[in-house]
Amino acid sequence: MTDDAGAAGAEAAPESPPIAGFDALGLSAPVLQAIEESGYTTPTPIQAQAIPIVLQGRDVLGIAQTGTGKTASFTLPMIEILSRGRAKARMPRTLILEPTRELAAQVAESFDRYGKNHKLTKALLIGGVSFGDQDALLMQGVDVLIATPGRLLDHFERGKLLLSGVQVMVVDEADRMLDMGFIPDIERIFKLTPFTRQTLFFSATMPPEITRLTEQFLSNPVRVEVSRPASTASTIVAKIVKVPSGDPRTRRAALRAVLQASEIKNGIIFCNRKSDVDVVAKSLARHGFDAAPIHGDLDQSLRTKTLDRFRAGELKLLVASDVAARGLDIPAVSHVFNYEPPRHADDYVHRIGRTGRAGRSGEAFMLVAPEDGKSLAAIEKLTGAAIEIAEVPDLPDQALGDRSDRGGRGRRAEELKTERRTRGRSGDKPERAPREREEKSERDRSSRSQDRSAERQPERNQERGPSRDREPRRERRDRDDGPGVMGFGEDVPAFLVNATRKKD
Ligand code: AMP
Repeated sequence: MTDDAGAAGAEAAPESPPIAGFDALGLSAPVLQAIEESGYTTPTPIQAQAIPIVLQGRDVLGIAQTGTGKTASFTLPMIEILSRGRAKARMPRTLILEPTRELAAQVAESFDRYGKNHKLTKALLIGGVSFGDQDALLMQGVDVLIATPGRLLDHFERGKLLLSGVQVMVVDEADRMLDMGFIPDIERIFKLTPFTRQTLFFSATMPPEITRLTEQFLSNPVRVEVSRPASTASTIVAKIVKVPSGDPRTRRAALRAVLQASEIKNGIIFCNRKSDVDVVAKSLARHGFDAAPIHGDLDQSLRTKTLDRFRAGELKLLVASDVAARGLDIPAVSHVFNYEPPRHADDYVHRIGRTGRAGRSGEAFMLVAPEDGKSLAAIEKLTGAAIEIAEVPDLPDQALGDRSDRGGRGRRAEELKTERRTRGRSGDKPERAPREREEKSERDRSSRSQDRSAERQPERNQERGPSRDREPRRERRDRDDGPGVMGFGEDVPAFLVNATRKKD
């Protein structure tokens, strides 16, 4: 994480004074009333720092992640700005870009909540919703357009949208946009909006690509940084659970043991792969746990339904991929479980940040097999502390011993014992997609996509300049939703977008 790199050209926000009430931030009575009705009494640090700056018309570079109250830090002052003036047909006045549909829908909800005392119009341009309805709203003129980048450009290319009236543009979760390959789209969108726009840019981390973007498109921004949950959340008790091998059956058995040993109100189980999300959710349900999956290949209405059930407390365990769960506003999650360490250490911080929010306590468990040693080391390096080992009863033949056996002596014997035992078991079926195969399939997909990208390069270079290696937007669009399939428009049956292996 190179937060400092992001400081280039950005002025730091003044040291935050002791946090006063919302009424000290320059917001008007109708907005303050909506805030009060939301039940908030004190602004969070990012709200206290960012709101006055946005109201002054300055660009903001916000280094913050979900759980810090950052959504309200831009929606509240935007409502204030929007209360003056009116929208014209096809020309939204403000634009908010979100990496996933769920996040976009969540921001739309917060506009409804905080803007209840204003007559503001909004449109949500996300995949899985018909173009027709969205076009009709755009034609009427909208104050706020909330969109995922791919869908926004689709509408633009169909001539249904002009971005030349955008006064305020928000880029939220920029580092996740980078992970999802959306940066070229964001650059293009920036270029379609007026140079004079106000830009509010949020990212949890500042990798070089994001720093470059902020240097190019933000004008003399004020940098507002709030600390990461990993360094501050004394409300989260994080532990690792040692599993004797990374064999999926062993991991699932260990997960069940941890779930049984925990007093869970509700929890999210994170997996690195969509295929694991499905397998784990099914396996848990088969073992009598109240669990359901959420990932980008699932039908949008099912995703929404599952989330609604989870939010309403009707579903106890959500099994999720990082992308699907990123930024979802689910207050009061009591537990986070990492089925395995995330591939990127940063994701660990995001994952465990789902619990321990707003002063509530939470527990985070991570299953760690001997082969996960490297990932664990990266996480501990990032968070700056060794993670405690949990004492969990009934783990599958677990070496509960000290950390020194992580990948060391005694491990092989344990693995062999487990292998023998699991081979003999009749319960879970053997995995169809072991890690290596899954990774190979991902590599193949990615190189195929790059090939296609190369084919279309000349066409794009004209529009975007010659220097960067970009993928075509079609392949990248709504990456979380899986690749598109010709002839099905937005309604691609899930089975058609599942990865398959070619016969050799
Ligand atoms: P966000 O980081 O925007 O996803 O917000 C995280 C959670 O904090 C959401 O559930 C918000 O409703 C809640 N929240 C935002 N601002 C405040 C506040 N000032 N006081 C209490 N809760 C808040």
